[in-house]
Amino acid sequence: MFDLSRPLIDILQDLICIKSETGEEKALCDKLEQTLEGYEGRLVRERDSLIFYVDCQKESRVALVGHIDTVPVDDSSTEPVIKDGELWGRGACDMKSGLAVMLKVIYDLSTGKIRPKHNLAFIFYENEEGVLPNGINFLLESGKVEPIDFAFVLEPTEGRYSVGCLGALSVKKTVYGVSAHSANPIKGKNALLESMEIFQNMVTMNDTISAPRKLDGLEYYETVNITTLKTANQAFNVIPAQVDMTANFRFAPGKSLEDAMEELWASLGKENTEVLDSSGSCYIGASGEEFLLPGIEREIMQAWTDIAQLNNNDIPAVNFGAGSILHAHKPDERISVDELNDFYGLMVNHLQD
Ligand SMILES: [Zn+2]
Repeated sequence: MFDLSRPLIDILQDLICIKSETGEEKALCDKLEQTLEGYEGRLVRERDSLIFYVDCQKESRVALVGHIDTVPVDDSSTEPVIKDGELWGRGACDMKSGLAVMLKVIYDLSTGKIRPKHNLAFIFYENEEGVLPNGINFLLESGKVEPIDFAFVLEPTEGRYSVGCLGALSVKKTVYGVSAHSANPIKGKNALLESMEIFQNMVTMNDTISAPRKLDGLEYYETVNITTLKTANQAFNVIPAQVDMTANFRFAPGKSLEDAMEELWASLGKENTEVLDSSGSCYIGASGEEFLLPGIEREIMQAWTDIAQLNNNDIPAVNFGAGSILHAHKPDERISVDELNDFYGLMVNHLQD
């Protein structure tokens, strides 16, 4: 089990040492489970996710939430090293740093160092870096998530609150033509030509929507892109009869998935489309304000994150964590030791008077 009496940065190193790529979280989940069994609270396991409830006879419950999986280790490492004040290793910022903070809070609760003003829940969940449904969905569907008034998801935000995020919609569009010998194209219909028109429509749509916008003073922009384009054609002397393309639309916080789809169909055409992936946007607005502190910078995340799933399941949630998203998923993933320690103090300030 993990020794939670160790300094925060040592706990983070211990976490990094246990490889937990998406789909292979069992070893880490087992070790977290063994660790938490030694602390006072109610521990619930669902698949390779854990919820640890600490009840303190308070009226509200605040959750700290972190995914336990990482992207593939690849050129990063599960052997953490500290150099020039930074800890390097897979998960250093995304987001074993958040898990280390959660574990240290549990330890400091056990010693009485933190005196909480809310009941607390600590959610360690699997399968965030893969496709939906993910660990949050499995937990919500399990019925094991008790009412939560507010959630902090400890994704790396450099200590800012991410109070909303854009939604994401991925669609496959198939364009059909008629094949013919390329020496006699008039006998066929080149599917690529129609694809080019659609491509241009999407460029025009992107030009229209991608100017920076503001929501309560927070900047974001919508964007739509053709991300793949391929013919089923194997030969260079055949007029292609089919083109498959995918469009990826990142849409505004507050815009419904249905409205986003309608908007996309207007430029892409709805016929012969298949929705590959869809995730709603979110914006917290004024809800949960009493759980936040003044003076902390806010942002809207361009990328989609699980705060959308929580907010859309009536759990107001923000991303709030140490480290930079710019270091996530990269070979040089790392976090500043001082920044992590400072963030811990800031997190604790949210939990006690
Ligand atoms: Zn993450």
